[in-house]
Amino acid sequence: MAKFSFECKDIGVQCNAKVDAEDKRQLMQKISEHAKSAHNMQNIDKETMKKIEKAIKKA
Ligand SMILES: [Zn+2]
Repeated sequence: MAKFSFECKDIGVQCNAKVDAEDKRQLMQKISEHAKSAHNMQNIDKETMKKIEKAIKKA
């Protein structure tokens, strides 16, 4: 089964959090929740979003 994962450190954030999910939509939701709670980021801007997209790994 495809699995998507994302690590904050891959976009240059000093954070050891790793988020994973079974689909990309769910992963993006988890990332935005993590961004809010851990990084006080209410909205992910376009530049950051691009970095996130690139850093997402599919296993
Ligand atoms: Zn983080």
